[in-house]
Amino acid sequence: MTTTVVVGGNFAGMTAALEVKRKGKDQHKVIMIDKSPLFLFIPSLIWVPFGRREIKDISFRKDEILKNKGIDFKIAEALKVDVKKQVIITNKEEVYYDNLVIATGPKVKYDVAPGVEEFAYYVGTPNGALKIRKALEEFKQNPGSIVIGATQNAGCMGAAYEFLFNIEKWLREQQIRKKVDLYWITPETFLGHFGIDGITGGETMLKSFMKMFNIHYRTEVGVKEVKKDKVILTTDEELPSKFTMLMPPFIGVDFVSNSPELKATATGYIPVTDDYRHIEIHNVWAAGIAVDVKLPFKPGKVPFSGPKTGYPSDETGKIVAENIIRVSEGKTELKKKAWGKIPGICIMDAGKKEVIILSDKLFKPRKFAIMIPNIFYDFSKILFEKYFLWKTKKGYSYLP
Ligand SMILES: Cc1cc2nc3c(=O)[nH]c(=O)nc-3n(C[C@H](O)[C@H](O)[C@H](O)COP(=O)(O)OP(=O)(O)OC[C@H]3O[C@@H](n4cnc5c(N)ncnc54)[C@H](O)[C@@H]3O)c2cc1C
Repeated sequence: MTTTVVVGGNFAGMTAALEVKRKGKDQHKVIMIDKSPLFLFIPSLIWVPFGRREIKDISFRKDEILKNKGIDFKIAEALKVDVKKQVIITNKEEVYYDNLVIATGPKVKYDVAPGVEEFAYYVGTPNGALKIRKALEEFKQNPGSIVIGATQNAGCMGAAYEFLFNIEKWLREQQIRKKVDLYWITPETFLGHFGIDGITGGETMLKSFMKMFNIHYRTEVGVKEVKKDKVILTTDEELPSKFTMLMPPFIGVDFVSNSPELKATATGYIPVTDDYRHIEIHNVWAAGIAVDVKLPFKPGKVPFSGPKTGYPSDETGKIVAENIIRVSEGKTELKKKAWGKIPGICIMDAGKKEVIILSDKLFKPRKFAIMIPNIFYDFSKILFEKYFLWKTKKGYSYLP
């Protein structure tokens, strides 16, 4: 019997744990450690501030499904790992493993610039999304300028663009759009770079959206400081702002940075080969955001990072599970797929409109990459949400 412990159980970790158990059956004991009892469909958090979703609509308790699938679920925070003794120290107990899968996602680096934590909102957590809902109710009574964007070193630009177009739509619905100067700020070298060096036609499309919706934008800028009523850019330009939402950079979680034996990168990510196995410690694997991914483009004036989206997170969870099974069967040939070679499948919500982004590979060189706008409604994003929640609730981790 081989024991695989998966730390972190959302996109990547849930898939990895379910797949190891499905493929390994009784030969594999699988333990999942997550500090949260909930599975959360993070992409729909952008709808929470506008009342299109409640947190309960996009999350569910994962205990039952894991129990039904024969996975031992421990609700605990992993504090560090001793890779020699093969034990994870949590805030509740010590958990021994033969294989360790790290799928802990990101920590948000709010201290990227002064005032970001105090004065800017962040939509990427349930609490953050609900705080925005409350702030917008107050904003409605006394509207003014709004700044939305991503800070220097951010990598999750897509979600910030989604929030921008959703707030623009909301302002029109509230009939206060004319009272609001809306600004978009981004470290990207051009609109729609997305940390993947863009997609053919993407920049033109986003420029036309900005013009159509009267959104002022600044590219290649960082944030020097956020104050209660303004955002000061690295260019020293000051943008007035009564409401600010920023996407700060992601770094690795404390569990990783507190475990020096993992030899994580300076930003706290796990160095792996294309089979998602640790470059040196062969019974340690990583999936999802926890993986160190090399930048697929030359940095511009202001640093920014690449995206680690849901599809590759799910895919790397599957690859890790397959490889753990192969190793346990004594096989030496492992499944390999570099992060950048995973297909790009993403839907950017644009406020009851959407853009579907498809490419054969996430990073260049690609054979094809297309953006399909759907100006009528965000059907695909809704479908993706319903499908993903359904498949995860059922434990159908093998589905795409
Ligand atoms: C606002 C927003 C919108 C997004 N929209 C999209 C989108 O439209 N499409 C898309 O493809 N991607 C989107 N993404 C990205 C997507 O959410 C991520 O790719 C995905 O969540 C990564 O999965 P993961 O499993 O690596 O990390 P996560 O989903 O963050 O899961 C990490 C898990 O680890 C647990 N954990 C962390 N530390 C510990 C610890 N020490 N001990 C125990 N448990 C721990 C956490 O509780 C969590 O359950 C969006 C992200 C954000 C923030």
